[in-house]
Parts: sequence; C-alpha cells; structure tokens
Amino acid sequence: MNKMIESLSAKEPMLWINPQYRGAAALNELELQFHDILDAEARLYRFAPLLGDLFEEAAPAHGIIESELLDIPELQQQLMAEAEIDAGDGGRLLIKGDHNLPVAGSIKARGGIYAVLRYAETLALKHELIDYSDNYRKLGEKKAREFFSRYTISVGSTGNLGLSIGIISAGLGFTVKIHMSADAKAWKKALLRSHGVTVVEHTGDYGAAVEQGRKEAEGNPYAFFVDDENSVDLFLGYAVAALRLKNQLIARGITVDEQHPLMVYLPCGVGGAPGGITFGLKHVFGDAVHCFFAEPVESPCMTLGLMTGKHDEISVYDIGLSNRTIADGLAVARPSAFVGKMIQGIISGTFTVTDARLEENAGLARTLEKLKLEPSATAGFQGPQWLLQTEPGRDYLRRHGLESAKLTHILWTTGGRYLPE
Ligand SMILES: *Cc1c(COP(=O)(O)O)cnc(C)c1O
Repeated sequence: MNKMIESLSAKEPMLWINPQYRGAAALNELELQFHDILDAEARLYRFAPLLGDLFEEAAPAHGIIESELLDIPELQQQLMAEAEIDAGDGGRLLIKGDHNLPVAGSIKARGGIYAVLRYAETLALKHELIDYSDNYRKLGEKKAREFFSRYTISVGSTGNLGLSIGIISAGLGFTVKIHMSADAKAWKKALLRSHGVTVVEHTGDYGAAVEQGRKEAEGNPYAFFVDDENSVDLFLGYAVAALRLKNQLIARGITVDEQHPLMVYLPCGVGGAPGGITFGLKHVFGDAVHCFFAEPVESPCMTLGLMTGKHDEISVYDIGLSNRTIADGLAVARPSAFVGKMIQGIISGTFTVTDARLEENAGLARTLEKLKLEPSATAGFQGPQWLLQTEPGRDYLRRHGLESAKLTHILWTTGGRYLPE
C-alpha cells in the first residue's frame, strides 16, 4: 500500500494534491462541453416561471433557484487564527450558501431539480403538451399534472437528493418513490412524506439503495430512475452554478484572474455536485480557479478512486474504513466513475475531515455567522488551512505562482435550510 492510502485507512485528516492535474487544458477532451452547460441554463430559464408558481420559496426570484455569496468576517478571522495567519495575509474567505437553496434546502436543488425538469420537458414535448415557444406555466395546469401522475420518478439517496427529487417531482404531479439508505435522517424522511412522497427505507448503505431503485425502474417506460452515480443531467444542473457565481463575483467587484485566483472547497459524496461545479468553474474561469473536494475520514471515496485510478472499482471498505459518519450527505463508499473520469485532469486535490471537526465547524458557523448548516455542509472549512499552512499546500501555491494574500477562498456550504431546531 502506498503511504497516502495508509494515511487514508488510518483516518488521519490529509491533503492529497492531484498529480494528474492539467488545468483547463484537460477540458477539450471531455465528452461534455461548454455549450452543454448553456443548454442546461436555458432549460432552467424556460422552467423558471412555472417554478415560481409552484413553490412559494422560489417566487421572490421568479423561479430562479440560486444561493447567496456571503461575507463571513468572524468565521474568516477564526479559521485564519487557527492557521496562525495574520488578517489579510491568507486572502479573503467567502461562503457560497447552497445550504440555503430554496425548495430543496441543499446543493441538490441544482442537480436534482434540473434532472427532473429535463425529464418532464422531454415527456411534455414528445406528447405535445408544450412546444419550446410556450410559457412553461402551462405545465402547472390540470391536464399536464394528470399526465405526469402516470409516471413514477425514483432515486436512491442518503437523504438530500431524495428531498430534492421528491419535492420537485411531487410539485409537478409525478408519482414519486424515494429509496433511502440507513444513514438518512428521520426528519428528511418525515419532510418527504409530508409532500406525499413514498419513502422506502433500506437497511443497507447508499450504494444498496441506489441499486434497488435502479432495478425496480428497469424496463418500465413509465418509470424514470435518477441515477446519481452516472447522471449527465445531474452533473450539468450542478455546472450551471458556475455561470451564476461569475455574475455574483462581478456584481461584487471581485477580480478573478490567474494572479487573483478563486480557491474553491466543495464537500464531496458520490461526486456529482462538486464534480459538476468544478467542470463549470473550469469552463468559466479557466486556470484562475482551483477546486478541492472535502470528504469525511470514514468515506473518502473520491480521493481513493482518483488516487488509485480505480474509480468505482474500489470502495472505502476495501481499505478498512466503515463509511459511518455523521455527514450523511457524504456517506458514500464508492465514487461515481463517470464523474471521476470527467474531473481527473481538472481537480486540484482533495482533503479529509473528521466528524468531530464537522460538528465544530457547524457550531462555529452558527455562533459566529448565524448560519444553519448540516455537518456535511461544513466539510470544506479547513481548505484554506490545508493550503496555507501545510507543506504540500504551500508547495501547490508555489508551483502555480500563487500569492496567498491575493486568494479568494470560497467555502461551498451544501445543506441545512430545513434542519430542525
Ligand atoms: C449530496 C451532498 C453533497 C455532495 O454531493 P455529491 O453529488 O454526492 O458528491 C455535499 N453536501 C451535502 C449536504 C449533500 O447533500
């Protein structure tokens, strides 16, 4: 076993720098391209008026589901002080607040809602309920809802994807069945049931819940299984975030170029959300953005898959880990091979975090910034420390000619809006 894998299996928090990183140059070879992201963005615009009608929470922004870019002066001071870095020397910290995304309450509002909208649009066009020139509000009428109710949408989830798919599908009138893994929190199941969704509880892990859902939907033309491990739709839904972030940075007057780069820290489960966002960010910002994924020490599936090049052919169980973590959104044993291959050349690195640290982070966010975050959502908080304070991190900055005072660090927070008190 190499030394890195030994550290992983010893559950020591660690930073892994990707030796296969090639930057934006690696984008050309990928099967998905920038126009695919624009296509997804356009679809979200077509559906926006309908979403504004269907969901009260989406109405103020006219059906565009987006999060805020937040200043976090107190938390920044705390995290920099922990890293023994003087104010200003380590750059600026911001939060991209996907923990508060309306309708789904987590980052899954991006990919999950998009995947269902795409399915609904395909059906509606094929059956001539709408054409492209229509206002999609039409799909909120009785005729369309009755039509959608004949179709069942299902998914396997650790919780948040189930919430997202369940709420949007039920909102459109689909029949919905959500397969939840054992680690899914009771409040997420209860919330889904309150939306009229069927929740099937599994005793196995996330992989088992996905397998069951996939099997049930197979061969049934009235069933659509949202495959979190292989979905291009989820991936592209997430990627749209990059276009939105670019506008937010411009509006704030924050310069992003190779001398003033964005360092982005993304909590990672199966990889779709952080992978899709990384893909989008590299297209939008090129080599002025550096993306790092954060995983629990018990579930570093993407790190392991990338490090070994084995992707979904290796699991965290294989190196003696339990995949048991309080970070339910990240409790995944085997990464998406589709995502792993897409990001192999564009992800800068990964790091791991203990459950104790996740809880501490969630506490800090609450007391210092009044933010309600799930533990999973805080996995990226140690990113700046890893880069600024450790030898492999500093070496990464040096090799890329990056000056720490000019960095803009983005901690991407991923869930918590509906967290009960
Ligand atoms: C799902 C999820 C993630 C990561 O997304 P993946 O696509 O599984 O990698 C991160 N944080 C939270 C809270 C999530 O629910």
